[in-house]
Amino acid sequence: MWAASACCSRQAGEGGGGATAARTPVKTFQAYLPPAHRTYSCIHCRAHLASHDELISKSFQGSQGRAYLFNSVVNVGCGPAEERVLLTGLHAVADIYCECCKTMLGWKYEHAFESSQKYKEGKFIIELAHMVKENGWD
Ligand SMILES: [Zn+2]
Repeated sequence: MWAASACCSRQAGEGGGGATAARTPVKTFQAYLPPAHRTYSCIHCRAHLASHDELISKSFQGSQGRAYLFNSVVNVGCGPAEERVLLTGLHAVADIYCECCKTMLGWKYEHAFESSQKYKEGKFIIELAHMVKENGWD
């Protein structure tokens, strides 16, 4: 029995930004956060991404600068998890992307191997470069 070639693996290109290929017109239902909340939206398509109440930390670093750690997010899809050595040690992380415009936003911590980093498991990093504050609150 021979293994089928994995033609559907989602590989981010070197340096990023190369994935403007198949833009399938699939209509997904977009989630909306309560209007009373201070929300972060996708800077590219304005889909809601996270509530300020879910913000855990602003002191993370993404590939394009500052990144925020959130407890939960909406309208976000998740790629396959893979092990990566980050500044804070070995983690299993998965790329996350905006479900509405498919832009890569950051990553999700699936598993942390260092006990001091366990608090990040199941949490989401979104790079500031991909977010806008809805209604321009401070
Ligand atoms: Zn988007």
